[in-house]
Amino acid sequence: MPRIRQLPIELVNQIAAGEVIERPASVVKELVENSLDAGAGRVEIEIEEGGARLIRVRDDGCGIDADDLPLAIAAHATSKIASFDDLERVATMGFRGEALPSIASISRFALTSRTSAQDHALRIEVDGGKPLPPKPAQHPVGTSIEVRDLFYNVPARRKFMRAERTEFGRIDELITSLALVRTEVEFRLSHNNKPVRLLRRVDSAAALPARVADLLGQEFIEQCLRIDHSAAGMRLSGWVGLPTASRAQADQQYFYVNARLVRDKVVAHAVRQAYADVLFHGRHPAFVLFLELDPLGVDVNVHPAKHEVRFRESRLVHDFLYRTLNEVLAETRAGSGVSPPV
Ligand code: ADP
Ligand code: MG
Repeated sequence: MPRIRQLPIELVNQIAAGEVIERPASVVKELVENSLDAGAGRVEIEIEEGGARLIRVRDDGCGIDADDLPLAIAAHATSKIASFDDLERVATMGFRGEALPSIASISRFALTSRTSAQDHALRIEVDGGKPLPPKPAQHPVGTSIEVRDLFYNVPARRKFMRAERTEFGRIDELITSLALVRTEVEFRLSHNNKPVRLLRRVDSAAALPARVADLLGQEFIEQCLRIDHSAAGMRLSGWVGLPTASRAQADQQYFYVNARLVRDKVVAHAVRQAYADVLFHGRHPAFVLFLELDPLGVDVNVHPAKHEVRFRESRLVHDFLYRTLNEVLAETRAGSGVSPPV
């Protein structure tokens, strides 16, 4: 048996990357979520070759203090939580302090950032996990991160990347899911230097349906009901697709818990049950739903990529979802007293 030894930090980060960074879209998720956590009003995402060649995310958020730059790319370093108590109430998308060091360990990475207190920006480059000393650079207040040649030093992962179109499709899907919930933010997405999406910020309630239509299509917005229902300390709002908006695939199902897109068994079951009486077998409902509840009632630290959550009182959540949706859908069936789609 060989002796036990401490692993080098680059390897630790690469192992962590294995959990969170499956494909280019996972990088985009981590970077854009960081921009949102930084209070950005505008996020620009540039992709080349499906993300295999370049992923660049640029924001106008708060930036990173010059002294903190090396920490931003260090493992387990975060500005978002400081204690277990914070973890239980976390309201930011990130909190693990693992994304940047992980990404930097499996790509050619550069971070440029400037806060409003600085008169110039700093740029730090990392090659295969090894940071070079920061250098002065040009950049407005905010942060840009460039990820080139993703997985260049992880051949096994590189092999698993799909065609450029497929990987870009995943990225576009990810941006769609973020743009549906963070409507106060402008998103721009380009692929191989061609603009693909320009989603301007929504600054009035009246402008909201247009954003949803832009993302999910005019058919969806014409065949859904807008709901906003509160009970038992929870709120369910969003857009419930009518049976006429149902689809052959489950490809328009967005469920957010405290603004985080999740896949959850309790939620899926409640929704399926609520739709059971109004949908033909084999059809899938379309919906965009936002569940808000006390952060203490839900654990988001279940999975490194945070796709999963655990409800403290899952029965209560299930019943609230089922009852609310069932009521809305039953009314559409009876065709009585329902406000027309917006
Ligand atoms: P986490 O998001 O879990 O804190 P990350 O590795 O994603 O961990 O980021 C590390 C830290 O770097 C963040 O806590 C934040 O302080 C800083 N940071 C990363 N991206 C940005 C950004 N776009 N704008 C401002 N700060 C950022
Ligand atoms: Mg993060």
